[in-house]
Amino acid sequence: MSITPDEATALGHKVWTALQNYRAESEAGQTPVLLQKSAEELAANMGLEGWLRNGGLSVDNVEKFLKPYLADSQHMHHPGFVGHQVAVPHLGCSIADMVHGVVNNPMAVYEMGPTAAVIERVVVNWMLEKIGWRPKDSLTDFENVAKNGAGVLTHGGSLANLTAILAARAAIAPNAWEDGVPNNLALIAPAASHYSMARAVSIAGFGQKALHLAAVDALEVLRPEQLEKTWARATEAGQQVFLVSVNACTTATGLYDPIDEVADFCAAHNLWLHVDGAHGASALLSSCERQLMKGIERADSMIWDAHKMLQTSALCAGVLFRNQRHLVEAFQQEGSYIFYGEDQPGFDVAPFTVECTKAHLGTKLFWVLAMEGEAGMAKFVEKQYADTKDFYRQIQAEPDFSCPYKPQSNILCFLHQPDAPGKQSAIRKKVLERGKFYITTAEVNGIRYLRLAIMNPLTTRQTIADLLDEIRICAKLV
Ligand SMILES: *Cc1c(COP(=O)(O)O)cnc(C)c1O
Repeated sequence: MSITPDEATALGHKVWTALQNYRAESEAGQTPVLLQKSAEELAANMGLEGWLRNGGLSVDNVEKFLKPYLADSQHMHHPGFVGHQVAVPHLGCSIADMVHGVVNNPMAVYEMGPTAAVIERVVVNWMLEKIGWRPKDSLTDFENVAKNGAGVLTHGGSLANLTAILAARAAIAPNAWEDGVPNNLALIAPAASHYSMARAVSIAGFGQKALHLAAVDALEVLRPEQLEKTWARATEAGQQVFLVSVNACTTATGLYDPIDEVADFCAAHNLWLHVDGAHGASALLSSCERQLMKGIERADSMIWDAHKMLQTSALCAGVLFRNQRHLVEAFQQEGSYIFYGEDQPGFDVAPFTVECTKAHLGTKLFWVLAMEGEAGMAKFVEKQYADTKDFYRQIQAEPDFSCPYKPQSNILCFLHQPDAPGKQSAIRKKVLERGKFYITTAEVNGIRYLRLAIMNPLTTRQTIADLLDEIRICAKLV
């Protein structure tokens, strides 16, 4: 099928206009956030089988597909979207994704995407600078100065966690690549870690028996003074602990583990400190919230999802190392047909990632930064964190609601009182059925809470007041 530039422009214009209308309607709260339907109904509404078999989608009929597709999507721009921790994408990202969809450079091999490769390196350097693993004002200095850190972008935080664990494995057991993993190695992480950590432990060949749970307080925050005990227990059992992983912040509560204290422990025992900053590392941008990450420069590795708190469309995650050797040695595998030597311009990142073909992940984040600047980005994080503290006070002031803690980030758990077994989950189900809000739940220390992630800058006190009223209605219906 050949399409002229004029026809392509007309189709693009139509789709882009529909998307901007979608965004505006969502932002104005004129649509449901999400109306749950069966898979069969959705497939029928979109006419999937017909399109797939017969083709023919064009400028003349595109709305037949696009309308139901958008109407039945999760409307993340809607102020009532207070569910999962995925960014409401900045306009810059929407454009960046469109650009990539045309240019489509698989940039992990430099010559297959030189512009996107350079942008990724600059964005990674920017992340490293924010941690303190690179000197300031050197973003476009591409020399691998040995004392600087290094990193790559991956398709998501789960892959970034896996990459960090593989790098730590290579550091403690360099022969593991060749011989397999020694069976006495052990890791310590709190139970509240994201499930991708436990998966990474098994994928990397350690097995779940190597994973020791760190002691936590009633809000599942790691207790650093208890690490010694966990370490001693593993050591007495003949295991060699080589890594401690902490959360900044945890997925369920949004509370930060104390990085600096854990760094003291790791320094005393010569252990690798991994910080899962998928959600919360963005606090590094803000001079007032940065203290939540105190001690981060002492870690060995950190992950940072731009598609959570940096307004970037999915996916864009950084896995970052204080010591650049650790990145280089994570995957000890020759692939001489793509990994060129010194005489080639630029740099290939394929040797340092699980992926081979890779999208222009850095370009997405770059577009947001290029439109907002660093200061605008910091302001966004500060606003979401401050608003969430404000919503906490608002919810606490209601006699029929209670929060178990004052939030440190933009994640907030709360209960509709009086609580009863299964009640909060039943409320959530009802809220979703009615489609005005999208919320989640989380279990913390055995108690199931309603949970908000305030990702949307348009969510206001009025939104929360309306949500509380909706929950009261739903509580009567369950
Ligand atoms: C979201 C999250 C992850 C997983 O990141 P993905 O990009 O969804 O793969 C890992 N750790 C924490 C703490 C998270 O919040």
